[in-house]
Amino acid sequence: MIWSKTELSIDSFERIEEPTLTIATTETSQDQVIETTSDFSDQPKKRKRRRSTSHLKAVPETLAMRERVKAAAEQFAEGLNKAEPFTKDELEGFARTLLDQLELPEKFLGFAMVLIGNFFWKRQFMAIPYSRRLLLLPHCLKHAEGCPAEYDEFGLDCESCGACSIADYKVKAEKLGYKVLVAEGSPIVLKIIVAGYIDGILGVACLNVLEKAIDKVLITGVPSYAVPLHTGDCKNTSLDESWVWDVLEKYEPMEENQTRSYVPLMRAANHLFDSNFDRLLPRVRATTTEKAASPLGKTEDIAYDWLAKGGKRFRPFITLAAYDAATGGKSLKSQEGVFEFSDSVGRVSMAIEAFHKASLVHDDIQDDDLYRYGRETLHRAYDVGMAINVGDYLIGLGYRLVNSARSELGAEVACDILDRMAMAHIKLCDGQGAEMAWQSSPDWTMTPLEALQIYALKTSPAFEAALYAGLRMSGPMDAYDEMVPVFCRHLGVGFQILNDLKDWCGDSNNKLVAGQDALALRPTVLLSLAIQAANEQQRRDLESILTGVGDEERRIAELKHIFDVCNVFEKAEALVDKSRARAEALADDVESDEVRQLLYFLVDTVLAPEEEPVPIHPDVLVPLPVTQHVGAV
Ligand code: SF4
Repeated sequence: MIWSKTELSIDSFERIEEPTLTIATTETSQDQVIETTSDFSDQPKKRKRRRSTSHLKAVPETLAMRERVKAAAEQFAEGLNKAEPFTKDELEGFARTLLDQLELPEKFLGFAMVLIGNFFWKRQFMAIPYSRRLLLLPHCLKHAEGCPAEYDEFGLDCESCGACSIADYKVKAEKLGYKVLVAEGSPIVLKIIVAGYIDGILGVACLNVLEKAIDKVLITGVPSYAVPLHTGDCKNTSLDESWVWDVLEKYEPMEENQTRSYVPLMRAANHLFDSNFDRLLPRVRATTTEKAASPLGKTEDIAYDWLAKGGKRFRPFITLAAYDAATGGKSLKSQEGVFEFSDSVGRVSMAIEAFHKASLVHDDIQDDDLYRYGRETLHRAYDVGMAINVGDYLIGLGYRLVNSARSELGAEVACDILDRMAMAHIKLCDGQGAEMAWQSSPDWTMTPLEALQIYALKTSPAFEAALYAGLRMSGPMDAYDEMVPVFCRHLGVGFQILNDLKDWCGDSNNKLVAGQDALALRPTVLLSLAIQAANEQQRRDLESILTGVGDEERRIAELKHIFDVCNVFEKAEALVDKSRARAEALADDVESDEVRQLLYFLVDTVLAPEEEPVPIHPDVLVPLPVTQHVGAV
């Protein structure tokens, strides 16, 4: 391992942030919500089950045939527009066309997709210096019986004993400067990318693993080259070794990246809270260790620490990305990961995060959550009084951060942003208050419309404030004023429903036990859909399960049975699809290509079917050349 493992900790990467920040901007009208939800009474669509793809992941049996597909894929990729990364669906379409041209069966679809993707990225991958590349190897290549290596949180810690080909690649790659991992998990890889350790991936993996990685790689726009294993068996597998050497030792610099990538912006959002934090937000009272420990310095010290550590920085990323897009998208093709923005733009983005963190502190108290960002929640680590105070402090800090940008951005811009944030704050309280009121006095006639109204208040405004602030800093909002709140409502509502659905995936993210949110008696859309479809007996059962105590496992099983019978999951999935489609339709009409592409990116990341938004984690960072200069707006 070339870099220090202590720099990376998986623990802090596991927990999902509750999607509860609420910074709203404009009033969501009743009509708009009704429009979103008007066809709940429709017959449930047939469940769009995730189709099995095992029949599409065959690898051609002979080297000659594999080489034939590879050569054709290279030729095919030459005709693709390299300016935009493609989606998985588009890639599938390309691969189907290629297979048709080659008169090969559908079973090679996954293989063809990987190869087209390779040649789309190959030139850009080879322009990445070795020291900025990751070689990702599968542990199934190891010698099955004799491998002396142990596993750690990064995968297999190969000892280069020479008994398998892993050592060959590893030794050579490390000599060139690569980082090398023998692992298959994408979370750690994404973490390393966003943290700034690497800019491209050379991966060896079976088609099953590559299939899962494709979405993330495509969405983030990370130049990658993959060598498929010949089988998906977890041992005794093989690969075309020459394909690895095709790129492993090749370095051909380019002046500019061909394809847009949001990675520099993700990194820039992270760096607001590490390398740039003290400069952008100098401490006032807790300026020394002694002063930080004193009664006068303690609140500032805790608040700054809470703001600086933990979280994916997704909202400040949205603000920076919106600003960048609306000012021409200069950072998107930056090969060095350089994103130029002024301190004022940085501070407004930090304000968005301060509001978000404040809302989480208060939300954790209300839910009595134990952990946040892999450490104790503030009210657990200190006490409820201190946590409330720190949350309030962060809100004040957020407003000050925006105001500090006034002289550069102009009073009108700063006031517009402050107004939107204030409105967002109000909506958060409305939504959170509605949820608490429902919990203390559940209404067993709650409709999906009512549940979605709470979602629109609780979740959507966070996206809206972040997006609005970035766009507003770039200039007047005439082109976006109407679109932003509606787009963000679909985004936030879809995101919250996806979160509800994830609550029923026992092994997903940080939810070890399925149905925990449901048992917490929250006014979820799932529950409202069940209430709507249930017969009288089922409604009585719902009430008794959710207000009852004891035997959680049985209660969750009974609840799930009613949800299944009422087609709740199918209906919720259909609502997410609808939110996604409506958000995309709004994006379609945006004139600015850069802003439109950003909106698509937000839909792809926030409403990804099985994944949470692209992780942007602050705990594992190395300095990158993020240039800031005052007066750049
Ligand atoms: S080279 Fe590494 S992975 Fe292969 S058998 Fe030896 S220690 Fe295990």
